[in-house]
Amino acid sequence: MPKQMNTSFGHAQSKKTYHTKNHVEKNDTLIYALGGLGEVGKNMYCFEHENEICIVDCGVLFPGDDLLGVDYVIPDYHHLIRMNKKRKFLVITHGHEDHIGGIPFLLRQVNIDAIYAPRFAKALIQKKLAEHKGLERTKIIEINDESSIKTKYFTVGFFNTIHSIPDSLGVLITTPNGTIVETGDFKFDLTPVGTNADYQKMAYIGVLKPDLLMSDSTNSGVEDFSISEKKVANEILEIMRKTSQRLIVATFASNVHRVSQILEAAVKCGRKVIVFGRSMENVVDIGRKMGTIKIKNADFLSPEELAHTPDDKVCIICTGSQGEPLAALSRISNGTHRYIHLKPGDTIVFSSNPIPGNAASVNKVIDKLFRSGATVLTKSILNNLHTTGHASKEEQKLMLQLICPRYFMPVHGEYKMLMQHRQTAIEVGVPKENIFVCANGDILILRNHEVLQSDWRFQGDDIYVDGNDISGLSTAVLKDRRILADNGLVAVVIAIDSKSNKILSRPVIVSRGFVFIKDSQGLIREAEFIVHQSLQEKMKEKTTFSELKNCVRSTLEPFLYKKTHRNPIVIPVIINSRQTMEEIQQKRIQKKAQRKEA
Ligand SMILES: [Zn+2]
Ligand SMILES: [Zn+2]
Repeated sequence: MPKQMNTSFGHAQSKKTYHTKNHVEKNDTLIYALGGLGEVGKNMYCFEHENEICIVDCGVLFPGDDLLGVDYVIPDYHHLIRMNKKRKFLVITHGHEDHIGGIPFLLRQVNIDAIYAPRFAKALIQKKLAEHKGLERTKIIEINDESSIKTKYFTVGFFNTIHSIPDSLGVLITTPNGTIVETGDFKFDLTPVGTNADYQKMAYIGVLKPDLLMSDSTNSGVEDFSISEKKVANEILEIMRKTSQRLIVATFASNVHRVSQILEAAVKCGRKVIVFGRSMENVVDIGRKMGTIKIKNADFLSPEELAHTPDDKVCIICTGSQGEPLAALSRISNGTHRYIHLKPGDTIVFSSNPIPGNAASVNKVIDKLFRSGATVLTKSILNNLHTTGHASKEEQKLMLQLICPRYFMPVHGEYKMLMQHRQTAIEVGVPKENIFVCANGDILILRNHEVLQSDWRFQGDDIYVDGNDISGLSTAVLKDRRILADNGLVAVVIAIDSKSNKILSRPVIVSRGFVFIKDSQGLIREAEFIVHQSLQEKMKEKTTFSELKNCVRSTLEPFLYKKTHRNPIVIPVIINSRQTMEEIQQKRIQKKAQRKEA
């Protein structure tokens, strides 16, 4: 690295101890993430000065298979709730779920003065809020690269970036202590589809020497420059031309540029199009309204017309490129789709890459598609069927070179990605001590153009959302679900008479997901027997319901573990004798009446 390179990024204070912790002082600007660090998802970056908080993005994270029954993961908004007296405004960089998906949950808990969003994101947010009662009328102010938001302490400006969805913006935030650039999601593509990136503007921001750059780390581990979206478009067009029969293309609904390229290629080749999958239909609908998808009504097929259209005049576009079990493509491969039944000669194109973790389910779907006699084309090093929406290493370097920040904070990525991005920044010439790899909740202080690590932090926890319940699932519920999934459930039904302190019948054990009852009669009998014995022992003296329940658990759990090496959830159900229950009930009523009289 040439020496003058270092100077362009500002001098490292070499004698400074490595990231000493500092107390927050009155006029500091605070920078922290409530989501987006150490994960790909739920992006939420906050900038706080005095009584104002500028929030950039408000996303969700889609949970993996280990979070059973959880629909979304959102950040813990507690800090913002506590700061409810401060004025807050939300700036959205683009319309992907990991940047807008949390908005309904945030709005229910936190007062937000205004939401600023670029055009495409605005349409998606409005559609989302329309499904949430009471939030339909939330005011969203449209922004573009020329917009400027001015508050008492912040001035926020924008520049166009290239990403897989139209109207993606990078953000320049001017605070009383210095300037910050947050890239949003971006890539560089010299022959882009859609709006070009504002190279001149980015270079100009670099001339102004911003203090901190926060940049997208998703593809930190990917070498070189990513391939252009135009190349992918050409490849798809080529396949459409060569294919003489029916075509089915699966891709990400979130990749709006790709969806529009596929639709346009199909129409160019004389095919009519039909879209399957809710998220895909949604995106096509909004894309057409926004003018980014330029396909006429006449080019679309209805499901009824599909049956009567020759195969070489049809192109089906659908969701399910990640093997999602409920998506259109999975149902097509299972033979359970309402309108599409595969036949030999069909060609299925995956214009996608399996996201790590989804490979097994994608392979399962591909296998089934092959079984039906169809031709399946997937992305490989031999073709250009897919490209990413995020910057690879060389593009990350270009961003660092254009913006030329004094300090750097990798964002939007798992810890490994953040560390790889850190390495890239060091290679480009940012001094090591000026790079901050943070976790959600860590606080950076911007003080008179200097970035410091704070000695305190916020809660950066995950909140699990089940359906639309925003209170968040407790980890205890999830723990139970995991035990149920791994070990099953055993219920023990016991009938007693609490008055005479007697067991009325032998305990009965019922189980689900534990052992195959038919093959385990002996085990269940034995379990019932030992529970019976220990209850009899326990009931020799006066006892309580909860003591009895504990007795059942402490007898059964070790026994079942010894026999099966499993720890099912044990639920004791105690039924009291009817006569005794009636007497207890009677006594309660009498007591109540007496209390009233008194
Ligand atoms: Zn994105
Ligand atoms: Zn993102």
